[in-house]
Amino acid sequence: MTSRTPIMAGNWKMNLNHLEAIAHVQKLAFALNDKDFDAVEAVVLPPFTDLRGVQTLIEADKLKIKYGAQDLSAHDSGAYTGEISGPMLAKLKCSYVVIGHSERRQYHHETDEQVNAKVKAAFRHDLTPIVCVGEGLDVRKAGEQVAFTLAQVDGALKDVPAEQAETLVVAYEPVWAIGTGEVATPEDAQEVCGAIRGRLAELYGQAVADVIRIQYGGSVKAGNIAAIMAQPDVDGALVGGAALDSEEFVKIIRFRD
Ligand code: PEP
Repeated sequence: MTSRTPIMAGNWKMNLNHLEAIAHVQKLAFALNDKDFDAVEAVVLPPFTDLRGVQTLIEADKLKIKYGAQDLSAHDSGAYTGEISGPMLAKLKCSYVVIGHSERRQYHHETDEQVNAKVKAAFRHDLTPIVCVGEGLDVRKAGEQVAFTLAQVDGALKDVPAEQAETLVVAYEPVWAIGTGEVATPEDAQEVCGAIRGRLAELYGQAVADVIRIQYGGSVKAGNIAAIMAQPDVDGALVGGAALDSEEFVKIIRFRD
């Protein structure tokens, strides 16, 4: 099996203003050391308004923390009031961009087609998409979580070539586990993450599927991350609430300790 560097990404959602963001990243930088960065890729995903400040701090102090945005427009420029484009995020040297988070799908009615267009927009500008997929409670109760999630994977990656797909990150986030305190069991996470890797192998071949990182997301905390990371197809976590507490997020990054 190919070894994949674990990726722990903190999705701050609509929390922390630009001053709080600086303080938060400084706390992470103070706590983390080279050994941590050799073992795990640590990523923060602040609101758009924090990105410039986070970039300045990270560049000035040569920090190894990576950063990215929580969304982007499918368009590169134009009359799209309120939107932020791929070129704008690339100019801020973002590494990552979250696409298709369940809150975007739920509150902004984002479809698989829009997610696919955003994935292509991200790749056009060398941003690595963190593509979120995952079922709601009704689908889980019906036992259709695998088929539902794989259909979202197919939709997100339509016409995305293998040489782009191999750099991407997929986040499996069962919607019923996000922000609820309800965590999928490690076996639940593995069932769907394993199926996602299987689908990636069908789409792109096993060698490409083996290098794509698949995260689990949904009420991840310091206390449950080790068991989740012990699953063979889970390569990291997309962390919401617990990423707002710098000490907790550091413990998640140090899940092996
Ligand atoms: C998320 O926002 O992607 C998430 C997983 O949130 P939480 O960790 O709070 O459940």
